[in-house]
Amino acid sequence: MHFPDRQVELEGECRCGRRGRLHHLSEIGGPLCEACFPESMQRRVARDIRVYRMIPKGWKVAVALSGGKDSGSLLHILQTLSRGRMNFRVSALHVNMELGEYSAQSRRVCEGLADSLGVDLTTVSIAEWGLKVQQTRRFPTCAVCGGIRRPVMALVARRMAADVLVTGHTLDDQLVYALKDLLSGKSHPPKPVTPKGPVFPQKAKPLFHLPDRAMAIYARLAGLPTVPGACPLFIPDTHRFKDVFEVLEGLAPLAKKQLIRSLSRNLKRPPGPDRVEQPCPVCGDPTYYNPCPLCRLREWQAEDGAQTRSPARPATGAPHHG
Ligand SMILES: [Zn+2]
Ligand SMILES: [Zn+2]
Repeated sequence: MHFPDRQVELEGECRCGRRGRLHHLSEIGGPLCEACFPESMQRRVARDIRVYRMIPKGWKVAVALSGGKDSGSLLHILQTLSRGRMNFRVSALHVNMELGEYSAQSRRVCEGLADSLGVDLTTVSIAEWGLKVQQTRRFPTCAVCGGIRRPVMALVARRMAADVLVTGHTLDDQLVYALKDLLSGKSHPPKPVTPKGPVFPQKAKPLFHLPDRAMAIYARLAGLPTVPGACPLFIPDTHRFKDVFEVLEGLAPLAKKQLIRSLSRNLKRPPGPDRVEQPCPVCGDPTYYNPCPLCRLREWQAEDGAQTRSPARPATGAPHHG
């Protein structure tokens, strides 16, 4: 991503006594040297895992790997913690979105990283569900991509017998989701954990309080491979909401942390019936919806394909957040 100017690197003495290049992120505190920085990230993740009961003792964790710096850093941090004092088992999953060379590179990066860390990796392709990342009805490609990835990851984590699916969503990601929701009149309090259901594993975001920049620094210091370049379907403007929070943090240090805390506490989910997992009437996979989001999208994509020469029909609903 593009970061607006903010002084984050300086020369000086770390609190450990070492002199050299220091990283200073107001979201974290500091400044910290290149030895203390990664340890600090690991301690912060370990603390949030305990405080929010993200990964209870003995649980099997499935880390959703994309090939990017956030999920790669998360896998490295969790594997380091599990080899230290934290008692859980780490595995990884990767969903191939079938976007040509970019997806092939992403898969290779994930395989290389998992291999170097000694982590079992499960890879699936969205072709298994008969789906494509493309504009569908009025939903842009990025929304369709997310609408496919979310349910597929949950199904694959369940197939792997994982107790918890963890994703590399950062502090900045949470703020952007919350802002977009608020702008469209929705109210979803950002949460680091969604508890286990009768069928689906728990979901957790161990990077909930850590900014994108911290993961960029972590990945570089740990020498982690990441996929070069951006997704071929990437539309920069839809991702520029992050700049809002970068500017805000530059103007008011600690603003991001205070804002996420305030949003988590004060936003209220609109009242509605509890979601119940049941088999999809079309494919039989467990889902909260009828039909499941993947079958709904497949139906729309088939109809869109059949109607390429007639005017598009208006959309009748949004891809689900399940
Ligand atoms: Zn230090
Ligand atoms: Zn289905």
